[in-house]
Amino acid sequence: MADKPFGIAIHGGSGNIKRSNLPPSLEKEYLEFLTSTINRGHAILEKGGSARQAIIECIIKLEDSPLFNAAKGAVLNSKGKVELDAALMDGARIRAGAVSGVKGIKNPILAAEAVLEKSNYVLLSGSGAEDFAREHKLAFMPDDYFEIEARKIQLAKHKYFTQPKVSPNTFDSAENEFNMLIERDEKYGTVGAVALDKKGNLVAGTSTGGMTNKEYGRVGDSPIIGAGTYANNETCAVSGTGHGEYFIQTAVAFNLHARMKYLDETIEEAGINVLQESLKLGGKGGLISIDKKGQIGLPFTTEGMFRAYKNHKNKGAARIFKR
Ligand code: ASP
Repeated sequence: MADKPFGIAIHGGSGNIKRSNLPPSLEKEYLEFLTSTINRGHAILEKGGSARQAIIECIIKLEDSPLFNAAKGAVLNSKGKVELDAALMDGARIRAGAVSGVKGIKNPILAAEAVLEKSNYVLLSGSGAEDFAREHKLAFMPDDYFEIEARKIQLAKHKYFTQPKVSPNTFDSAENEFNMLIERDEKYGTVGAVALDKKGNLVAGTSTGGMTNKEYGRVGDSPIIGAGTYANNETCAVSGTGHGEYFIQTAVAFNLHARMKYLDETIEEAGINVLQESLKLGGKGGLISIDKKGQIGLPFTTEGMFRAYKNHKNKGAARIFKR
């Protein structure tokens, strides 16, 4: 299998991330984290490990980091709670597992994997999904593990700007760099990974806290198969990040697969075209994708997207901005 193509890409969300908003020390921290994560996934694939193994390893690392909007450090809903969505799709079997609106599960991507492997369902939600995770012995953590201070300040600011009656006192003390960054953009930070292994299998995974101040059990695109997550060995694996409502309504991830399959577009062309369709309706965002030859696409229509990739030729990079 020495000359078989393989590769991996990860994202840590897209949004209105500008150099002027991101202090150099924090930029360095993000880039180092993305680099060590992609290297870990790449090493698994290089040794002949599966795309799924590589993706799960990478997403767990991203979920466990408070830098991103997934699991620990995820954004807060309107009640100040963390509610998580995640999905995993195996392109060899066209089989997916997903959870939405779950609380307390330390690594929602493992719950998505358990749904894929150990249930007859595709998407489990809320307390039912939590019961399922408990039955399958997944780790749970208390609220204060997920609810970091910076997100509390972010929620207070979001409420202040959208509902001016809220007192600004709750966030006056916010001085640290991460607070300064998230104050300016409430959406970025969803995480995802796509990979091709030496056996030719394509897998995609996505995990998120969704959108700050979300209400009424809102579910985004990440756990919706074909919207934020999709994989099919015939074409590609895709994980999206951006304004979920638009990604659902333009079926971004499935649309990318379909454009490659029926229009014979390359992964780069299809990626740009699906994001343009979403943008026409008002939905900004980005995606990572990989095809069966190991070609990688990382398009986005926002100011920035936290991303990294590495292929079988050891070509790779970690980046945030367009250039
Ligand atoms: N797509 C996610 C959602 O709408 C949010 C994001 O990617 O930042 O739930």
